[in-house]
Amino acid sequence: LTERLQGALSKLRRKGKVTEADVNQAMREIRLALLEADVNFKVVKDFIKVVKEKAIGTEVLESLSPAQQIVKIVDEELTKMMGETAVPLNKSPKIPTIIMMVGLQGAGKTTTAGKLATYLIKNEKARPLMIAADIYRPAAIDQLKTVGEQVGAPVFEMGTDVNPVEIVRQGLAQAALQKNDYVLIDTAGRLQIDEALMQELADINDLARPNETLLTVDAMTGQAAVDVAEGFNSRLDITGVVLTKLDGDTRGGAALSIRAVTGKPIKFTGQGEKLNQLDVFYPDRMSSRILGMGDMLSLIEKAQEDYDEQKAVDMAEKIKENSFDFNDFLDQMDQLQNMGPLEDIMKMIPGMANNPQLKNIKMDPKDMTHMKAIVQSMTPQERENPDLLNPSRRRRLAAGAGRPIVEVNRMIKQFNQSKKMMNQMSKGNFNGMEGLMGN
Ligand code: GDP
Ligand code: MG
Repeated sequence: LTERLQGALSKLRRKGKVTEADVNQAMREIRLALLEADVNFKVVKDFIKVVKEKAIGTEVLESLSPAQQIVKIVDEELTKMMGETAVPLNKSPKIPTIIMMVGLQGAGKTTTAGKLATYLIKNEKARPLMIAADIYRPAAIDQLKTVGEQVGAPVFEMGTDVNPVEIVRQGLAQAALQKNDYVLIDTAGRLQIDEALMQELADINDLARPNETLLTVDAMTGQAAVDVAEGFNSRLDITGVVLTKLDGDTRGGAALSIRAVTGKPIKFTGQGEKLNQLDVFYPDRMSSRILGMGDMLSLIEKAQEDYDEQKAVDMAEKIKENSFDFNDFLDQMDQLQNMGPLEDIMKMIPGMANNPQLKNIKMDPKDMTHMKAIVQSMTPQERENPDLLNPSRRRRLAAGAGRPIVEVNRMIKQFNQSKKMMNQMSKGNFNGMEGLMGN
């Protein structure tokens, strides 16, 4: 019962404008959500500043709470910050379009080269050639050849004894001969950025003049990914980023940081080890993911559809006057039921999805139906004046609703407790809130 009222209660605290206090409250939540999602703290700081300025004084939409309104602004700003729309691959006006993969060892360069080949073959019926320019691990060449076989793309290799720049030179000559429309260069990586590697990549870059130099970054490395991106970007002219391993439980905050720090667009994301698990990067989807809001926007839409503003105002008034009765209670239950299962709604609220308390809350829609049945068995007088409900009347309700008498007693007790607490809260006394939340 109490959890049910809680959802409605939070909606009662609505105002015509977003106040500074609302903003500060929401910002604390959002700041935490961003840090938890691995967004660089400096980026978070700058971001919060922008959002704060935007949010203060914003008119609240009819049926949004200030918090929802702020989340909406945050979502829009995050999306904007990540580039708003997807950025396609740069293409060469004449073939071949040359794509060079760079990144640390294990970031997913070789896998992503295979994924890109798959993507291009599928969407453009392309004929890509892959060049094996990672000569430091013999297994690297075999890995690329295996990938090439899987996707049906030829691999150019010269073993491990030839200089990578020379391999690329000859690979490009072969591509020209065979009229390949794309060339994907798979380069070496290291566990850390070092000068020898950077020099080698810069040399390949100078020779091949790629249309795309795609930096592959492992999203799971979180904060470290930003340093890596900065390091590569300062030496090579990165044209785009591929964020791999987003299928893990990372929330993808690195995406925001990388974009903010390097200014380079994220073009693709890796969603698994399989060669078809490559997605075009959509800033709006990533924004939702970073906020962990499940589907905050659809919650907002739900609220817009189902929430009756006038009723809320009336109810707030009644709570203040302590005249909240079983008719109002019934109304509230109807409104909550219209919005769908309460657990689902709670999960859509930022910070709630992972809230351990949510796991303890059991919300059986049957409970709500039973409670409604009990209330519906009351006479109009009883609904308006719950004090009338003496033992014999309660027995009548139990019989009418087909529920045990203990359940009737429990519900009335909870109703009275909640009413008392709501009344106190409406007077600004938040003691006893704990009890309400923890049921
Ligand atoms: P490279 O050293 O940069 O060439 O990295 P690899 O392409 O060899 O990838 C290193 C490991 O990461 C391999 O086990 C890949 O299967 C794995 N991997 C690459 N991309 C993804 C991805 O998007 N999701 C997951 N789960 N694994 C990936
Ligand atoms: Mg590799």
